[in-house]
Amino acid sequence: MLKINPDFAVKLKKYGAVDINACYNCGNCTAICPLSEEDHSFPRRMLRASVLGLDTRIEASLDPWLCYYCGECSETCPREANPGELMMTLRRWLTAKYDWTGLSGLLYSSIPALIIGFVLVAIAIIGIGFAKHFNIEAIMDFGHHFELIAIISVFSLILVPNIIRMFWFTILKEKTKVPLISYIKGTWDFLLHMFTQKNSLKCENNIFRWLEHLVIVFGYLLLLFTTVFLNWFSTENTFIIWLGYIAGGMIFVFTFDFILSRIRKSKEINKFSHPSDWLFVIWLFLMAFTAFLVRVFIDTDLLSNNLWLYMVHLIVIAQWALLIVPFGKWTHFLYRSFAMYFKKLEEDSK
Ligand code: SF4
Ligand code: SF4
Repeated sequence: MLKINPDFAVKLKKYGAVDINACYNCGNCTAICPLSEEDHSFPRRMLRASVLGLDTRIEASLDPWLCYYCGECSETCPREANPGELMMTLRRWLTAKYDWTGLSGLLYSSIPALIIGFVLVAIAIIGIGFAKHFNIEAIMDFGHHFELIAIISVFSLILVPNIIRMFWFTILKEKTKVPLISYIKGTWDFLLHMFTQKNSLKCENNIFRWLEHLVIVFGYLLLLFTTVFLNWFSTENTFIIWLGYIAGGMIFVFTFDFILSRIRKSKEINKFSHPSDWLFVIWLFLMAFTAFLVRVFIDTDLLSNNLWLYMVHLIVIAQWALLIVPFGKWTHFLYRSFAMYFKKLEEDSK
């Protein structure tokens, strides 16, 4: 029997700006959506489920992750119910549902909690600087090890258990019988969608935005690789130094364009920005920009007299790694890729 949550609409308001009660169920949004399919028909169905408070049905659904937020449905909705933003709101709500710690829901729905989290991380990093007598070499050594430890810890303690929970909600709990071979066959689709997000090309006039995402994803992975595994800040290898500069530059130039689009609100998808959207683009920009500056200061022998720059960079990295990656918008990249994988498993089970 389906359970109804009468408070669901009120709860959703904390995760985004949506007026689901404005919807009169005409179906225009689903008709125009370039990604809606027979088996995964959205966004109208998600709107109905939200209006009716069917949160367990939404929890079991992959549909919110199959939307790439092109905004076409919101542009054509006669009631201005903003179905595209509802899909985004549901992705935030689902992120909170999958997260076993409960922190994701807290940080998405409470600005004071978000500020406290960011301030506490900053204080912890300054405290570590103090404990190391603000010695630049000792702090940089800590920073290098911190990145690796943070990646391993966040993945094993937060992200992997949360993906298992997503698998439970969407596949196991639904008693979907998947042939064993499908788990192997689906990995190609998983990797393809994760790195290319190719389905977003089905959205109209989306090539430039798709390219921007692609550059940022590859720039991000390259910067992660050069700083964590090739020790970019300590190396004297010219090739690695330039690789890091290119990766950092790729990220902050393209992310700056994303920030401008959100400020200008010129496109449908940028008309509303949740605090988590701002944090994601601004911190991604700051992370790459401060990393770039740190390396410039190293190459010009200015860093030893400008410890503050490395401290700012380390604080940004720590806030990114400990708050945004495990609990914020970064997870969408991961959950969407797994949703594509689980969708393939569902298809193979029929
Ligand atoms: S969200 Fe808008 S377009 Fe979609 S069914 Fe409701 S009223 Fe129609
Ligand atoms: S934002 Fe685009 S992809 Fe998402 S539901 Fe609307 S039309 Fe479909």
